[in-house]
Amino acid sequence: MNQFRFSRRPDIGDKVRVSFEFFPPKTDEMEARLWDTVTRLEPLKPKFVSVTYGAGGSTRERTARTVKRILNETTLTPAAHMTCVDAARHQVDAVIREFADFGVKRFVALRGDPAAGVGTAYRPHPDGYANGAELVGAMKSVGDFDISVSAYPEKHPESPDFATDIDMLKRKVDNGATRAITQFFFDNDLYERYVERARRAGIYIPIVPGVLPVHNFTQVANFSARCGALVPAWLAERFEGLENDPQTHALVASAVAAEQVLDLVERGVGDFHFYTMNRADLVFAVCHMIGIRSHEAEAAGSAAA
Ligand code: FAD
Repeated sequence: MNQFRFSRRPDIGDKVRVSFEFFPPKTDEMEARLWDTVTRLEPLKPKFVSVTYGAGGSTRERTARTVKRILNETTLTPAAHMTCVDAARHQVDAVIREFADFGVKRFVALRGDPAAGVGTAYRPHPDGYANGAELVGAMKSVGDFDISVSAYPEKHPESPDFATDIDMLKRKVDNGATRAITQFFFDNDLYERYVERARRAGIYIPIVPGVLPVHNFTQVANFSARCGALVPAWLAERFEGLENDPQTHALVASAVAAEQVLDLVERGVGDFHFYTMNRADLVFAVCHMIGIRSHEAEAAGSAAA
């Protein structure tokens, strides 16, 4: 993947669709940053924007508040993430209905991680939904929602093998999932192989690559180790020595993310989900490079022509 052709393809923007992921802010300062980000990215007309749900369902209220604000104050279509960890079925069902009542039509359905953190053993609530597939079924019994689910190109760390992992994805699809969004990855071959495996297993929903622009390489490397995503040596080399040079780090990060996305476009991928980390700049730059422009930019371009 370090040998991408960095081609300029002005026609790509017509074929590519994007979605953006945000997390609910904890403080007023974080809230302000999120809304700056939302305002900057809104003109790019993403297909939807999703808002995550904290570990153990700890951010239900903040997720709901953020989703409501997106519904009420923007033109964007929100998708609410929901997990079923540490909750009884009736509690999960009540949250699904609460979201639906204030206008949510899209969900991202996840099992979630134990409150003790990624890597600790998962035990379903005795009266709860056991996994993402059961949660999808619960959502479908409440309404005809658009439901995204997770997929893991390098398999989920708890899956003993790819067959078990793909089998879980198949169960989610059988229960009504509309699309899968992948965990982030940096080696496009792994993604392509995973999609081939899924297709061979009879899974035909879109498997949308989750792209993580590297805002902070050290943090991304630590997080990758915990969630089982490979950090290739070439990627580490690119960010080597940039720990205290945020400007160059950002330039390198946007080039790396654009290369990855352009290579996936060359391989026929048309939908991308960006993990924004509530920051606009890198995502905006990458979208610009793949031809996704705001109306303002398009208007300025045609006036200048
Ligand atoms: P599932 O799809 O239910 O299972 C994942 C895999 O684990 C399966 O492939 C299955 O084979 C294996 N597995 C599950 N249970 C077992 C078991 N008992 N024994 C053996 N193998 C098993 N987390 C949050 O808390 N909030 C979020 O908002 C959030 N958003 C996410 C968005 C995306 C796009 C992705 C990819 C992940 C997100 N996560 C989020 C992280 C997710 O909750 C964790 O990865 C969690 O560990 C698994 O949830 P899941 O829905 O993928 O699980």
